[in-house]
Amino acid sequence: MRGIVWFRRDLRLDDQPAFAAACEECDEVIPLFVFDEPLLQSHGFGAACVNFMLGCLEELQSSLAELGLAMQWRRGFQVDEVLRAALEWEADVVYWNRDYEPRALMRDQAMQNRLAREGIATKTYKDHVVFEAEEVRGATGEPLQRYSAYRARWWARWHAIKPTVHAVRHPSMITRKAVRLSSVPLPTANELGYEHLVPWITPGERCAHEQLRWFVEGPIHRYADGRNRPASEGSSKLSPHLRFGTLSSKIAVHAALESLSHTGPVSRTDVLTWIDELIWREFFQQVLAAFPHVVDGPFRNTSVPPSRDPGPERDRLFRAWCDGNTGYPIVDAGMRQLNQTGWMHNRVRMIVASFLIKDLRIDWQSGEQYFMRHLLDADLAANNGNWQWCASTGTDSMPGYRIFNPALQSRKFDPDGVYIRQYVPELVSVSSRRIHEPHLMTPEEQEQAHCRIGINYPSPVVDHQLARQEYLNLGQQEATR
Ligand SMILES: Cc1cc2nc3c(=O)[nH]c(=O)nc-3n(C[C@H](O)[C@H](O)[C@H](O)COP(=O)(O)OP(=O)(O)OC[C@H]3O[C@@H](n4cnc5c(N)ncnc54)[C@H](O)[C@@H]3O)c2cc1C
Repeated sequence: MRGIVWFRRDLRLDDQPAFAAACEECDEVIPLFVFDEPLLQSHGFGAACVNFMLGCLEELQSSLAELGLAMQWRRGFQVDEVLRAALEWEADVVYWNRDYEPRALMRDQAMQNRLAREGIATKTYKDHVVFEAEEVRGATGEPLQRYSAYRARWWARWHAIKPTVHAVRHPSMITRKAVRLSSVPLPTANELGYEHLVPWITPGERCAHEQLRWFVEGPIHRYADGRNRPASEGSSKLSPHLRFGTLSSKIAVHAALESLSHTGPVSRTDVLTWIDELIWREFFQQVLAAFPHVVDGPFRNTSVPPSRDPGPERDRLFRAWCDGNTGYPIVDAGMRQLNQTGWMHNRVRMIVASFLIKDLRIDWQSGEQYFMRHLLDADLAANNGNWQWCASTGTDSMPGYRIFNPALQSRKFDPDGVYIRQYVPELVSVSSRRIHEPHLMTPEEQEQAHCRIGINYPSPVVDHQLARQEYLNLGQQEATR
C-alpha cells in the first residue's frame, strides 16, 4: 500500500500521529507539503510567519531525508494539488492531522470527497491539541463557555486517559518505505512573495525540543511571576512551535509534569500555572470549533461602547498604535517588538490590546488582523479568543470597566524600563522615574535625557484618564439603552 502524508501545521516527526500511522500501515510513504496559494496571495499572515514556516519545512525535509524519504512540495489550491499528487503517484491513502479552523474544516471535507470519488482512502488524526472539542464537554454534552469549567474537565480527562505519545518506527524500517522520487529544494520567501527575514525564534523541531528542555529545567519553576515581566526570560517562547506543530502539545504537558521530579528547586504551583496556559490554548480551539461565529463577530452580544467612527482621526490613531508612536512607552515598546521580531510578550499584548480598544476606541477586529499579519505564532483560535477577552466580548471576558492603565502596568512589570529601553531607543537615557510617563519630564529633564517630547518622542496621542472616562460613560449609555 502506498500512502501520502500531507503535512500541514504539524511540521515534525516526533509524536506525529499521521506520519506514525502511515509508516506503520504502508509499504511506501511519500511526505507532501502544499503551499496554499490563496493564503499566500491574501497576505493574511506576514513575512515573519512565512519565514518561520520555511525554516521548519527545511528542517523537516532534511530529517525526512535522513530517514531516506524525499519530501515533496507543491504550490496552488491545496485540494487540487493533493488530489493531483495522489493520482500521479497512484496513492491508496492520504494521511493527515486534523485542523479545527472553519476554513480548514471545509477544505478537508472537500478533500475527503474528491479523494473518495477517485477511490482513494483518507485517514485523519487528532494532533494539534491533547483533547478535541467533543472530548471535553459539560455534563450534558454541551460545549463549555467558561475556562474554569473547561480546565476542571480537561484535567479529569487527562487523569482518566493518561495520553501517551506516538512512537515513530525504527528508522531502518522507514527507509525501506521510500519511493523513488527526488526531493526538490524548497522555494525561498522571496519566491513566495514575501520579504526574507531571519526568524527571531529559531524554527524547527530540534530547536523546539531544546527550548522546551531549557524551559522545564529552570524558568518553569518561577513562571507565575516571571511570565509577567517582559524584560526577563520568564515564559517559554514555544508559541510559534506549537502553532506550526514543531512541538506536540502532549509532549509539552508531559515534560512540564516530569519536571516536578527534577533535582533542584521545583514548584508545583508554577508548573501547573504553565500547563493552565496550554489548556487556555485548547480552550480557545474548542471555542472556535463549537462557536465558529466568533470569526466574524463577538462571542456574546454584551453592551460595549461603540468604536470610533471611520475617518482621518481614527486612521491617525490606528497608525500611531501600529507604528509604536502613541507616546505611551510600554505600548510603543510592545508594538515595536512585534514589528521588529514577530513576537510580543503576553502581558504587553494585553496592554496594547486594551489601549487600542478602550483608550483609542478602535474596533478589536483591526487589532486582531494586525496581529495575524505580524505574529510568528499567529493562530486564529488563540488570537481571536484573546482579542475578544480584551474587548470584553469573549468567553471569560475582562470586565468592561477594567481598563489597563499603561503607566501603572509598566511601573509594575517593567519598573526600571529595561524592556522599554530595548525597543524605544529614544528613551534610553530617561530616568527610571520618568520612563513610564516621559511627557511629564520638565524641559531640563528632557535636555538631560536627550529626548524632547513632541520632537524625539511623541506626546501621548490621547490622555489616558480622559479616554478612560469617556469609554466608561459610553459604556453606561450603551447599557441603559
Ligand atoms: C491580544 C492577544 C493576542 C494573542 N494572539 C495569540 C496568537 O495569535 N497565537 C498564540 O499562540 N497566542 C496568542 N496570544 C496568547 C499569548 O500571548 C501567547 O501564546 C504567548 O505570549 C506566547 O508566549 P510563550 O510561548 O512564551 O507562552 P507561555 O507563557 O510559555 O505559554 C505556553 C503556551 O501556552 C499557550 N498560551 C499561553 N498564553 C495563552 C493565551 N492567553 N491564550 C492561548 N494560548 C496561550 C501558547 O501556546 C504558549 O506557547 C495572544 C494574547 C493576546 C493578549
